[in-house]
Amino acid sequence: MIAPVIILGFLGLLFGVGLYIASRVFRVSVDTRIERVERALPGSNCGACGLAGCHGLAKAIVHGSAEVTACIPGGERVAHLVADIMGVEAKVVEKKVAILRCQGREVADRFIYEGILTCQAASLVHGGPKECRFGCIGFGDCARACPFDALHMVNGFPEVDEGRCVSCGKCVAACPKGLFELVTLSKLVHVRCVSTDAGKAVRKVCRVGCIACRRCEAVCEFDAVRIENNLAVFDYEKCTSCGMCVKECPTGTIMDYRQSRKDLGLWPVKAVTGD
Ligand code: SF4
Repeated sequence: MIAPVIILGFLGLLFGVGLYIASRVFRVSVDTRIERVERALPGSNCGACGLAGCHGLAKAIVHGSAEVTACIPGGERVAHLVADIMGVEAKVVEKKVAILRCQGREVADRFIYEGILTCQAASLVHGGPKECRFGCIGFGDCARACPFDALHMVNGFPEVDEGRCVSCGKCVAACPKGLFELVTLSKLVHVRCVSTDAGKAVRKVCRVGCIACRRCEAVCEFDAVRIENNLAVFDYEKCTSCGMCVKECPTGTIMDYRQSRKDLGLWPVKAVTGD
C-alpha cells in the first residue's frame, strides 16, 4: 500500500523538478515597460503611428524604433506619460492637422456619374465627374475614413474640424485626388488648390482655383512662394505666415487659418513634449 504512494510522490517530485528546469531554460523574458507603455496609449488601434496597433507601437517605443511622441492621437498627455515610463528627456514636437487643398465646392459636373458612390470608384471614370479634374469629387471617402469624427461632408464638400483632427493621415490615404496634407499648426497660410492647369482653364471651371498670376510670388518678402507648373507652392521652411500673399491673391486661393484657429484655441500653438 505504501509503495504506490512513494512511487507517485517520487514521480510528482521528478515532474516538478523537470517543469522548473524547463521553465528556466525556455523562459521568454518580457520587458514590463511594453505593457506599461501600451496601457498609457489610447488603445484605439487607429494605425496613425504607421504600426498595426497600440501594442505594436509600445514594442517599437521600448525597442527604440519609435519616438515616445509617435502616438499622434494621444497628443501631449500620452507623450508625457510615455516619456516618463521610458525615462527620457522631453523636446518640443508640434501638433499637425489635415489641410484640404481644394475649395471648389461650386465646381460643376461635366457628366452624370451613375456608378458606385465613392470617390475611389468615381475617379476611375475619366478622373471623376467634376469639371476640375484635380479637385474634390465630393462622395466623402475622406469623411468615412476619419476615425475621429474630424471630417464632415457639408453640402457635398468636406470640412475639417481642426479641433478634433489628430493628423492620423487616414484622409490622406483615402482621397484619390491627393487633396489632404498634414501640416503643423503654426503654419497658418495655405494654398487651397492643386490644379496645374493653365490659369485660363482654371478660371473656366473654378472661381477659387490658382490661376498662376504670380502676385503671391511677387509680394512675398521671404521668397517662400513659387509658381511651379501653374500652381503656387509654399516653402514652409521660409514661410512666416505673414499673410501678405493672402491679401494679394485675386481668387482667394490662399487661405489664412489664423482666426479660425484662434477661435478654436489652437493658436498660438502650445508645444507637445516627448523625447
Ligand atoms: S476630398 Fe477626396 S476623398 Fe474627400 S470627398 Fe473629396 S475627393 Fe472624396
